[in-house]
Amino acid sequence: MLEMNAPDQNTLAEGLGYLADERYLLHNPGSRHPESPQRLVAIHQALREFGADVRWHPIQPREATVGELELVHDPIFVERVERAAKHAPAYLDFDTSVSAESYEIALLAAGGVLECVDALCSGKLRRVIAFVRPPGHHAGRKSARGFCLFNNVALAAVYARKKYRLERVAIVDFDVHHGDGTQACFYQIPEILYVSTHQFPFYPGTGDFDEVGEAEGKGYTLNFPLPGGTQDACFAIIYSRIVSHVLDQYQPQLILVSAGFDGYFKDPIGGLSLTHAGYGSASASLMLAADRLCQGKIGFVLEGGYSLHGLKDCSRAVMVEMEQQRPRELSARESAAFKEISGKAATFSRWKW
Ligand SMILES: [Zn+2]
Repeated sequence: MLEMNAPDQNTLAEGLGYLADERYLLHNPGSRHPESPQRLVAIHQALREFGADVRWHPIQPREATVGELELVHDPIFVERVERAAKHAPAYLDFDTSVSAESYEIALLAAGGVLECVDALCSGKLRRVIAFVRPPGHHAGRKSARGFCLFNNVALAAVYARKKYRLERVAIVDFDVHHGDGTQACFYQIPEILYVSTHQFPFYPGTGDFDEVGEAEGKGYTLNFPLPGGTQDACFAIIYSRIVSHVLDQYQPQLILVSAGFDGYFKDPIGGLSLTHAGYGSASASLMLAADRLCQGKIGFVLEGGYSLHGLKDCSRAVMVEMEQQRPRELSARESAAFKEISGKAATFSRWKW
């Protein structure tokens, strides 16, 4: 089974946390379904090989309350999911099915991600990664879709806003599929920025360039539809040259990442050509932005990824970046020195910065 090593309290890396729990294996959408419990078996193995279970702080999940689910979801929909699990096996959508344990495990996935928000926003941890299932980013207010029951990341963003009175939360989604559920939740509000890179045209069909938000939310949805076959260099530069600058302007107080690894070149579902290096680079850009903007507070939450090899490789790449990068905050002295150098050089330069 998936026994993790007991962490040594004296050598735990500062500020790094992970969430993994073998109960997440209990959600079983069917024997030939790609969103299989084996995905987490592979990731747990990667966690142990990497040593995160020894060096990082474990985060204990809890079940989300129905009241917390209703931060995003319609109460009638929540009841529908609960009822479906009672009559399992049952389908909520053509590709979204439940086993008897699925409702409780979906509560545990959502609640686990809320625990991650608490760890980040209370200042206990700085960077966390949550390996939960079922995934969430296709789930809408009233609908389970695309293997997703409840929208873990959308719930986390609203929860963070309410509990910690945050004014701006950024959700960045690098799953191969567009997070239509997340986009729809926040399409008309500016308080939660949604940025997605995804294969297009592709399931679920949304996420074109001109989907930018509506009403007060106009401009606060940003989509980068990528052609099939897109490789690491293009993917990574979108994060380092564009998403980073958008985040600098938005000034989020927390960054949440819908971390799907189904853009991996061997993924049986996705059609991008990314490797672990592309995911590592994109994640590093996001962590640097978090360091600049919000005391490093960033939470990665597993979405898709159906190549077991890809899940291991890409999770490990993100964890390597989480561990290697250090806070880049300037001391007061460094900050004063930087301002002086920057200001003086700008006086003489034809270039602007
Ligand atoms: Zn996906």
